[in-house]
Amino acid sequence: MGFSPRKKMIKIAIDGPGGAGKSTVAKAVAAKLGIVYVDTGALYRTIGYYVKSQDVNPKDSEAVTALLPNINIEVKYENGVQCVYLNGENPGDAIRTPEMSMYASAVSAIGSVRAFLLETQKDIARKNSVIMDGRDIGTVILPDADVKIFMTASAECRAQRRYDELKAKGIDAKYEDVLAEMNERDKNDSTREIAPATAAPDAIIFDNSGMTLEQSVAGVIDIVNKKTGA
Ligand code: C5P
Repeated sequence: MGFSPRKKMIKIAIDGPGGAGKSTVAKAVAAKLGIVYVDTGALYRTIGYYVKSQDVNPKDSEAVTALLPNINIEVKYENGVQCVYLNGENPGDAIRTPEMSMYASAVSAIGSVRAFLLETQKDIARKNSVIMDGRDIGTVILPDADVKIFMTASAECRAQRRYDELKAKGIDAKYEDVLAEMNERDKNDSTREIAPATAAPDAIIFDNSGMTLEQSVAGVIDIVNKKTGA
């Protein structure tokens, strides 16, 4: 089956817990379909990064809210790769550390932070065909998405993937710490009051435990084709 770039606009929402392979799979699907991949976690990570640089407690909602007017976030695509600029500078992989995962999770529970990032996300989807990954894409950001997938896998499988990812980036970590951090973050993300990380009622649950990247990509393409009648 061929996958030629689409003429009609399409919005694909991929939600799910950390380490389920959302970003790797979504990136590959975007390339196959000729659409834009949007990593929304990077936006929360960038806010977390700024909050840390200002020595502010990421759980202190008043203090974090007071910092927002000083933050300018721009999403750019350079050679097809998403880059998030914070006040004109690209922090790069500094937002990818386990510490920044926890900062992102803490600031993402604050309503003003979610409101701050809402338009940026909606705007990208208005202007492009997208596959967007996050926690609330199918429920809040793109409630009218053509395809909604909730991608998950066992906690051990997800922790192993995240551990391999960190190692490949040269970031030092222990598997047990990655698993514990992942469980804590999942708990924060799925139990928070605002926009908890849950599957939209019309999302398709896709459990890719034990699947290779190629199998996951094929699985998602299959769901997209069935949903859109391609
Ligand atoms: O996807 P990633 O692991 O990079 O996301 C980092 C954190 O940002 C998540 O643990 C979650 O707390 C938050 N997030 C969110 N909503 C999104 C994307 C990410 O709350 N749409």
